[in-house]
Amino acid sequence: MARQVSGDQTYALPEGSQRIIGRDAMRINIAIGYAVANIIKTTLGPKGMDKMLVSDLGDIVITNDGATILEEMNVDHPAAKLMVEIAKTQDKEVGDGTTTSVVIAGNLLKKAGDLLDQNIHPTTIIKGYELAAKKVEDTLHANSEAVTSTDTETLRKIAMVAMSSKGIGTVTDKGKIADIIVGAVKQVAEKKNGKFVIDNDLIKIEKKAGGEISDTELIQGVLIDKEIVHSGMPKNVKDGKILLLDAALEIEKTETDAKIEITSPDQMDAFLKQEEKMMRDMVDKIASSGANFVFCQKGIDDLVQHYLSKKGVSAVRRVKKSDMEKLARATGAKIASTLEDVKAADLGNAGTIDEKKISGESMVFVQNCKDPKSVTIFVRGGTDHVVSEVERAVVDARGAVVSALELGKYVIGGGAIEMILSKSLLEYATEIGGREQLAIQAFAEALESIPRTLAENAGMDAIDTLVTLKSRHKKDDGKFFGVDVMNGKVANLKEIGILEPEKVKKQAISSATETARLVLRIDDIISSRGKGPSMPPGGMPGGMGMGED
Ligand code: ADP
Ligand code: MG
Repeated sequence: MARQVSGDQTYALPEGSQRIIGRDAMRINIAIGYAVANIIKTTLGPKGMDKMLVSDLGDIVITNDGATILEEMNVDHPAAKLMVEIAKTQDKEVGDGTTTSVVIAGNLLKKAGDLLDQNIHPTTIIKGYELAAKKVEDTLHANSEAVTSTDTETLRKIAMVAMSSKGIGTVTDKGKIADIIVGAVKQVAEKKNGKFVIDNDLIKIEKKAGGEISDTELIQGVLIDKEIVHSGMPKNVKDGKILLLDAALEIEKTETDAKIEITSPDQMDAFLKQEEKMMRDMVDKIASSGANFVFCQKGIDDLVQHYLSKKGVSAVRRVKKSDMEKLARATGAKIASTLEDVKAADLGNAGTIDEKKISGESMVFVQNCKDPKSVTIFVRGGTDHVVSEVERAVVDARGAVVSALELGKYVIGGGAIEMILSKSLLEYATEIGGREQLAIQAFAEALESIPRTLAENAGMDAIDTLVTLKSRHKKDDGKFFGVDVMNGKVANLKEIGILEPEKVKKQAISSATETARLVLRIDDIISSRGKGPSMPPGGMPGGMGMGED
């Protein structure tokens, strides 16, 4: 299929380049996109399995998280990279729904492949997919319900569903973490023009192996993974008055090579005294501002540390810029770039600042801040693998709760919403008619891949489940029915509380459509990497059937 560049093309392309054109190019890209979706589909839903990924260096990651799996897989083929892109975008935009978006994209491609086999032109397929995507957006909106920051119970369910597929902890652990996440999001949420605007970064996630998952806690402030610089400084400060300093507490070394000529011991003495005095002055300025704790973004000289400790002022050095910003948001401090005219008004406040030893390492807890606009979720768990997976669960749930509040809408998960969308698309397809109709129907079938996969992963009969679901959804009161994976049957999932943010679904489907469109527009792969574009391992499965399904 891949052919060496020859004839006229030799002039245009470097030697060794390879080119695949037309339908062949499309078929390869489709096969690879579908293959990627098939790799991660077994992780979808609470009954999905985990994957163990081993890097070149032997590092191991055990996860259920779509975005993490795809990233760690290090795929090589350009079409596979496009699929990885979807997961990344989904992760960045909404933080959850990565597996869903990749599975839908893979199935949109597979169905497009079937249509190509029936001689439907790619442009027609793309047109139909675009119409379908627009219709999906409207139907999604028409079938969503409102949620706001006071609906704690709904937000908690959304957090639980987002975490449910991560194989960590007990239901009690997850419940506790869900409460923490909802509390954290509410704490930092701000309303602008009647809409919630929430910056994910204001909810810092810090992790440390040790303890148990249930030790995970919400810190009303910021947790800094550093220690207090001097053993003589107070380690437990009440009523902290915090100075945030973006300048070194050291005597600046000159940039150029300056020479100081010292000719007598007196001069040497005077020179050292001068330095000492400058450092004393620094400490005096800090103390007279009223600060009892300094977070410094740069270094702190040993002598300055010593003077500070004598004044009873504690300090942490080389604090990350991002942490400085969080400290400012949590304590109300202004970050000072010089010690000149630092005033009491620039200082921040925290009820307590404590250095604690956590699993043998010192960390500084800045907490009990009054109405902090930045908080920290401190994730604990038995081993590094466990805390990493809990962290990913927290990231997903944080994304879900934030997305739910930002759009203020949720839908019913477990495949219920996909069934509603699919049904409405099938009706819409007959309205549209023509050849696009086929593409719209294909889109509808691609959406069914979600309930189908959830059922498969729960060990249920996928065909039976879909048939039952379809007949349920024919009735007016059946639209909340989806796959109850925990009990292995079709059930009303609104009653069970399987809720998902509309924003996550919307983003998952729109980025899947975008990618399918992108892939279907490619009819020429030119590769200058020598070996040329290659087939997926095992070659192309027979026809356009591409293996499973
Ligand atoms: P993603 O990366 O797409 O978020 P997940 O592995 O988190 O993938 O699975 C999400 C899917 O699992 C959603 O369709 C969600 O509605 C569904 N789901 C989660 N919990 C349940 C449940 N208890 N019963 C049925 N479906 C569930
Ligand atoms: Mg999820």
